Amino acid sequence: MGENYRIGTIAIKGGYNPKGGEPKVVPIVQSATYEQDDPEFVAKVFNLEADGYLYGRTGNPTVTALEEKFAELEKGVAAVATACGQAAVVYSILALAKAGDHIIASSAVYGGTYNLLKINLPKLGIETTFVDPEASKEEILKVAKSNTKAIYGETIGNPGLNVLDFEKFAAVAKELDIPFIVDNTIATPYLVNPIDYGANVVVHSTTKYANGHADALGGIIVDGGNFNWDNGKFPEFVEEDPSYHGISFVKNFGKSAYATKIHSTLIRDFGAIPAPVNAFLTNRGLETLHLRVQRHSENALKLAKYLESHPKVSWVNYPYLESSSQYNRAKKYLRGGGSGILTFGLKGGEAVAGKLIENLKVTSLVVNLGDVRSYIIHPWSTTHAQLSSEEKIKSGVLPDLLRVSVGVEDINDIIEDYSEALEKI
Ligand SMILES: *Cc1c(COP(=O)(O)O)cnc(C)c1O
Repeated sequence: MGENYRIGTIAIKGGYNPKGGEPKVVPIVQSATYEQDDPEFVAKVFNLEADGYLYGRTGNPTVTALEEKFAELEKGVAAVATACGQAAVVYSILALAKAGDHIIASSAVYGGTYNLLKINLPKLGIETTFVDPEASKEEILKVAKSNTKAIYGETIGNPGLNVLDFEKFAAVAKELDIPFIVDNTIATPYLVNPIDYGANVVVHSTTKYANGHADALGGIIVDGGNFNWDNGKFPEFVEEDPSYHGISFVKNFGKSAYATKIHSTLIRDFGAIPAPVNAFLTNRGLETLHLRVQRHSENALKLAKYLESHPKVSWVNYPYLESSSQYNRAKKYLRGGGSGILTFGLKGGEAVAGKLIENLKVTSLVVNLGDVRSYIIHPWSTTHAQLSSEEKIKSGVLPDLLRVSVGVEDINDIIEDYSEALEKI
């Protein structure tokens, strides 16, 4: 937008600037392809010498509006929207690593990302070493190799709810001269901009808080524009791309080399683009991001305090609780709130967890998180069931752990519901 607006204004005005007579609301451009009248212009667009819409896989104005808003929200230079969060995570890595390369990742990452890094990317020749997010800088540096191409972490791990030590991870990235990728899905740009703390790439599952209403899947990759790809480790960014005549991403696109590479090679060749209507719904969800995440955070803190004081509850974990081991880091990095996810255990353990879930009425049993409704789940037997017991514990999943995604319903109703449900067990 060219002005230093604050997040609540960017959430509403960012990414789309209609002129006289144009629709005030971002239109859903429900067309797979576009009319063109100048063959020379079409040739230029194909060769990345001009911007223009030719075909829906390589661009759509509704999707562009979402990308531009997200780049502004995360203080990046450009963004690429994808069909879902997992596609964003995959592309964020495939853009900078190929067979024979290596990634360092926090072990406290989303289950889907863990499986991707541990099982599927190795099939393409990209290996990952997982590190405990609380390991020291020296311990993390020890697992680095000459072919290490990125370090990866999540702002708030799920369901361990550890807050990423941005400065430590950024220092490792700096020392190794590799990009630092952060999944900021749960914190959202309302609570923190990882780029402020040294991240070079920010990814999201927009399916969660960004959309906020659970009516469209989506993902986004934000290019921080703050990494020097011409450092000898990323020749594919510097040398001419064999699928574009004479184009070098670094030389031709400068700060947005990474986003342009993803758009013009990975999106072109692998697809996984968002449907225009999903981009529209995500963009509309973002218009209230600042209101929702503020309320999610307030409600979650109140529920966490209530559960902490309840005699049938054995423990509660929420980054903004003073009793949390993450409290100081949460205060340092997260602006005024800890988002909507909390976890807790009951004194009766796993045996009564299912009973509590059955008793709840305002909060329902749902696998998703980060939308306006309140949800609860038992990750040990569901979302993380594919992992071994040891892996579950490593990623913060304990047998008695219940994960709550606190919605924006009236907090008094949420708490009364827990009170009644707990009474019955
Ligand atoms: C849900 C989620 C993903 C995957 O996103 P999808 O939109 O479900 O593909 C990735 N990272 C985090 C932190 C998530 O919560």
